[in-house]
Amino acid sequence: MSDTLLKIIPTDSTYVPDSLSENKCRIYLQTLFDANHVTFLATQDVEFIDPGQNFEHVFCNVCAREINLGYWEEKVDSASINKFNDLTFLTPCCGNRISLNSLRYEWPAGFARFSIQILNPNVVLTDQALQQLQEILNTPLRKIWAHY
Ligand SMILES: [Zn+2]
Repeated sequence: MSDTLLKIIPTDSTYVPDSLSENKCRIYLQTLFDANHVTFLATQDVEFIDPGQNFEHVFCNVCAREINLGYWEEKVDSASINKFNDLTFLTPCCGNRISLNSLRYEWPAGFARFSIQILNPNVVLTDQALQQLQEILNTPLRKIWAHY
């Protein structure tokens, strides 16, 4: 049996909400989803939030060329040595210094300390609902669809 996990992460990799905002968020999500399916995760260090089996390609967000996955993994490994405190690297395609978190992942992925994970969501998280969450948390968010 396979599972779908909708992960919602802040675009700012270091962001973690205070408990009041997190609570408001939890209450709001309970109006949409089964509370047992909603998990809030916060880690000490920044982590790569992956789309599971949906992970296919990575593209440069400056020149749009595809980045070799082996090269990308090397850069992720180097960044992990400093616990992803510095996500910048020099792109092989156009020689720009950019963040691993700004790359265009197919499907979307990102780096974060905080995530909201919804297991097998039975309703669609609309743009309005995402907007609502962004207002509660006061930070831009990104949706990641993971498949396992
Ligand atoms: Zn490039």
